[in-house]
Amino acid sequence: MKVLLIFPPQWTPFRPYLSLPSLTAYLQEHGVNVVQKDFNLEAYDLLLCKDYLTKIGGQLKSQFAALESKESLAPGIEQKLYSDLFMAKSLVPELIEKVESAKATYRDPVNFYDPDKLAAATHIITESLTSIALAHYPTSMGLSSFDMPSFTGSFASLKRATENRLENPYIELYEQHLLSFIDNEKPGLIGITISGESQLIPALTLSRMLKSQGVKAHISIGGYVVSMLAEILPKYPDLFNEFFDSAIINDGEKPLLDLVRHLEQGKSLDGVPNFIFMDAERIKANPKETPENINCLPPPTFEGLPLNEYFSPDPVLPVLSSRGCYWARCAFCTHSLAYGMTYQIRDAGKFVDDLEILSKRYGVTHIALSDEGTSPASVGRISDEILRRGLKVRLSTSIRPEKQFTPELCRKMAEAGLREVYIGVESACDRVLGLINKGTSCAIDEEVLRNIHEAGIWDHVYIMFGFPGETMEEACQTFDFIEKNTGIIRSLGISNFSVGRNSRVMKHPSEYGVTLPDAGDDLDFKLYIPYQTSEGLSDVEGWQLTEDCYAKVAVKLEGDVLLEKIGHHYDKGCILPQYLSHYESTDPFLSTVVKVKPPATPPRRTINSKSRLALKPGVTMETLQFNLRQIRKNITDGAKSVVYREPTITLCEPGQARFKRVADNAAEILKLCDGQNTLAQISQKLARRFSVPPFVIERDAIAFMQPLYDEGYVTFQS
Ligand code: SF4
Repeated sequence: MKVLLIFPPQWTPFRPYLSLPSLTAYLQEHGVNVVQKDFNLEAYDLLLCKDYLTKIGGQLKSQFAALESKESLAPGIEQKLYSDLFMAKSLVPELIEKVESAKATYRDPVNFYDPDKLAAATHIITESLTSIALAHYPTSMGLSSFDMPSFTGSFASLKRATENRLENPYIELYEQHLLSFIDNEKPGLIGITISGESQLIPALTLSRMLKSQGVKAHISIGGYVVSMLAEILPKYPDLFNEFFDSAIINDGEKPLLDLVRHLEQGKSLDGVPNFIFMDAERIKANPKETPENINCLPPPTFEGLPLNEYFSPDPVLPVLSSRGCYWARCAFCTHSLAYGMTYQIRDAGKFVDDLEILSKRYGVTHIALSDEGTSPASVGRISDEILRRGLKVRLSTSIRPEKQFTPELCRKMAEAGLREVYIGVESACDRVLGLINKGTSCAIDEEVLRNIHEAGIWDHVYIMFGFPGETMEEACQTFDFIEKNTGIIRSLGISNFSVGRNSRVMKHPSEYGVTLPDAGDDLDFKLYIPYQTSEGLSDVEGWQLTEDCYAKVAVKLEGDVLLEKIGHHYDKGCILPQYLSHYESTDPFLSTVVKVKPPATPPRRTINSKSRLALKPGVTMETLQFNLRQIRKNITDGAKSVVYREPTITLCEPGQARFKRVADNAAEILKLCDGQNTLAQISQKLARRFSVPPFVIERDAIAFMQPLYDEGYVTFQS
């Protein structure tokens, strides 16, 4: 039986995700014919191309024209949509022109390492995704996000979202680019991974389309999200009728192999562990078994994945040295649940074998450990083994701050090639750390950060605001901690607390002073649950502190300045490993790379009657039926006032997200500013047309054009 494993959108396109390569290697080792397909990556290439954006541009124009034809625009959503559509449809021509080179920058071994060029490419790519989403309004999407607000968490809204062509861009994409591939492969089993919330709707859209087409293969879903929903799925028989045949919970290797064998032999699926399926109109959840021994797993295989097509010139491959978290007690965290609360460490010798195999087989320099947290003892053994073998690799991993990360251990880790660690500090207040049950202390955090920093390893520190019960004073301690330690923290990942499904806070809300909504089944498919706290910071305050911390504190960290510039606050791992390897011998901490060059200021020129002017490239002028300036003001002020039709001439520079209203007489002058005619010649023409003395028009023209030039809307042609 052929097995087809699919990684669906929407996930980042920077490196392969580990689930498919791990499952593929395991199944192949057991003689199963497996094809792995990263359709997430393919979707980026299909969406971010001239043809698709041209089509999107047409859709945006139609949507905008529909609003332009109205007599008035309602406050709130309608005015915001008008403003967004105007900017997006104005920007699309530039996106069409630049999107291919933006993708090429990400794959280019020279341009990728130029932060200015990478920042420009990121801008084009994120704006393209924003425009695509706007054409499917109210959907939003980015490089690590996909959100359909019409999906509210209920099963009914899930069904609607997966069949809504107007809002869901993946229906058409699958029809045109994936279904025929699947048909040709003729798999007996299709496995679809759902690793993050951003994949839930796209993945279930695909599985539902396959089911509705009567695909002959057994369709099974698995991954982190599926494990989080394990208790919910059996409530909905229609999921198993309309969306998929089965769901695999926790580690997938054993259940998937058993499923293949049972299907091949036509046996009842009762014997497949960690497995939910429908049997004779009844949902069955088979008992769980311990996962496959981590030391019996083969190294992941990336055969069949287009490693040169990821958005990186130097692929970074993921691998695990452990599964689960050895601590597994933080009240907000759900990571261990995906592993059924088990924890396994791969033998250091076997793990370093994996590193050797991957680096030789795929020619990669940097390998990213996707561990939830590599323990000090484990990373020590791995480092010893790497040094003993003289293996040349570069590594990154996540750790929990433990006092065992001594200066000696950190130096050894660095010597073995560890270049980057992600550290969950969360808070700099011991009382809050106690509430979280983090099992660490502020003093140890600081000591570990110093040891890591002084060993020459990049430390990326995770901070969280708004854990239930945290006060404003305690949050300020975290601000102070970062300010005090800017010399030993390279970069920050800041978030606000949220109640994760199945987390300890969700299971025992009263212990944390948290109230969860009595929503019945309405939030069944939400991974994060809205909440209220009885004490301490509210969720809104937590979110605001997160924003403030980025704006006021993170900007003091050189590393954050670089990452912010390139637009990667959402996923630092996607460029840092490559940058750290690339600049290792010349600038190991990217100190010169991060220097932001001040923009060159050209000398100011004064406009006179001999000036030949034109609109700056990228600036357009058009007549809008509504006053965009007023609309923007309403949005900013949260004003509830209706705007009525009021034709206005507007200059717009969509690439800079700015615009300016111009008076009718100024517009007449601008229309003739073609870079050929001087202002004197333009004034002569207009004087004849409007029977006004030329010197009057010339005087007005100079007065109009000087501020437009100063603001960068018009430019000299000679
Ligand atoms: S936050 Fe980190 S240390 Fe805490 S339980 Fe989760 S993975 Fe483990």
